[in-house]
Amino acid sequence: MRMRFPWPRARSRQPELVCQQVVELVTDYLEDVLSAADRERFERHLAGCPHCTEYLAQMRETIRLAGRVAAEDLTPVMRADLTDLYRRWRAEG
Ligand SMILES: [Zn+2]
Repeated sequence: MRMRFPWPRARSRQPELVCQQVVELVTDYLEDVLSAADRERFERHLAGCPHCTEYLAQMRETIRLAGRVAAEDLTPVMRADLTDLYRRWRAEG
């Protein structure tokens, strides 16, 4: 099952991904279903963003442990936790 976040996408108007979009795309990336252009943007963002690199590593670990990622694995609480995490990262800047 593909996981979908309810967050809005604005990719067509933004050549560079913001962290929230990376979080949104990470399962597509791990499932290798991104378009070549999206994948390139995703990897370009990762290259300059240790927070998203870390998030991707955590997602890989989650998938390794769970064997898969299902929509129910990411609850609204977990999304709220992620939002807090990114807010902290920005505050630390
Ligand atoms: Zn990022």
